[in-house]
Amino acid sequence: MDISLLFTVLFAVLILSVLFNSRATAIEELEYSAEEGEKMDFSVLRKAVEEVESVDGHCHNIVAFDSNSVQGFIQAFTVGAFGDAEAFAFAQQSLSFKRSLRDIAKLYGTGLSLESVEEYRRVSGIQSITSTCFKAARFSAILMDDGIDMMDKVYDIEWHKTFAPFVGRILRTERVAEKILEQVRYLHTFTFNMHIPLLVKFSGFRFLSIIVTVANEIYALKSIAAYYGGLEINLNVAKTDAEEDLRQLLNAGKPLFLLNYKSLVSYIFLQSLEVSLSYDLPMQIHTGFGDKLLDLRKSNPLHFRAVLEDKRYSKCRFVYLDFGLAIPKLSVHGMISAVKDLLNLAPLSKVMFSTDAYTFPETFYLGAKNSREVVFSVLRDACINGDLSLPEAVEAAKDIFARNAIRFYNISSAKVVP
Ligand SMILES: [Zn+2]
Repeated sequence: MDISLLFTVLFAVLILSVLFNSRATAIEELEYSAEEGEKMDFSVLRKAVEEVESVDGHCHNIVAFDSNSVQGFIQAFTVGAFGDAEAFAFAQQSLSFKRSLRDIAKLYGTGLSLESVEEYRRVSGIQSITSTCFKAARFSAILMDDGIDMMDKVYDIEWHKTFAPFVGRILRTERVAEKILEQVRYLHTFTFNMHIPLLVKFSGFRFLSIIVTVANEIYALKSIAAYYGGLEINLNVAKTDAEEDLRQLLNAGKPLFLLNYKSLVSYIFLQSLEVSLSYDLPMQIHTGFGDKLLDLRKSNPLHFRAVLEDKRYSKCRFVYLDFGLAIPKLSVHGMISAVKDLLNLAPLSKVMFSTDAYTFPETFYLGAKNSREVVFSVLRDACINGDLSLPEAVEAAKDIFARNAIRFYNISSAKVVP
């Protein structure tokens, strides 16, 4: 896990269902601290973690049941698997699936099988299950990247406002760029190879005008440059190289896809950083884990060092550690271990909860529920080890779940005071 004092951390965490067993809770909440003989009562911490209304800094749209992109509820337990029967079968053998299915069956009051849960979902409908999952998750706000374009029948941001007190938008910059480049290709075709530098200028102008139009509605930008060749951004990309990439892209077949146009990707990324600076918008950087298109070797945030050290972007507010998708897809031990690793070094003021939930309302519920359990466990251990006092742990819980994000994303105007 890569951490640095410069970054702000997104995370989502998992389940420790045994802690919700009342017998276990009584044992767990009264522990000896590192100082011999001193007993600590963790019920205050438990209450703080349970009661804080969380701000989810990274999630995606819910999708209709009859979307062609959805092939059954089992997809909620895979990452990027589509039409892959083998992956669906293996997913059901994971610790995460077995644990999560129990949680969902308990939430819905159904039998403990995928079929029972699927039947409940069918009978209840998307509105009802979303309402149930969001109520149980207890968000005060969610920030949604609505730029995943490979799915159909996606509910828009407005739709989600029925279920969460506050829904803010995160703008995926490469998606904006691709939309503009579709227009550019149209122009290119009908102007018989219009001068490429002119098209680059037009693209830049459109990019800025779109950002200006939505600047007041968005809370962060997000880059998925990691998907398009990795995080080794060329900080000195020549405009002529970007133009050459554009020329090739416009002459390539459909659909328009930025992968393999590295100079153009770097150029768009640097333009995005300029926008991020101009509007003081945080920039989320996708770094790891994802579908098959992502090369994990190239999406390691270590490649991002040059950007972080470039003086031109020293004022940019980056979020570039994201293991939201890894959670709740690891074991309980894995999740606790990951969050402990984070807190080994990262300032408490920079660690933020997120779910990276997508498509299925249950992924919001699982992310939120498990986060509360794991954060409680990690902060409790920090007290036992002597890293934190109990009052400090209570403050840390409020920061991690809500206050850090409210401050960082500047969403204080919303009614999301923890
Ligand atoms: Zn995501």
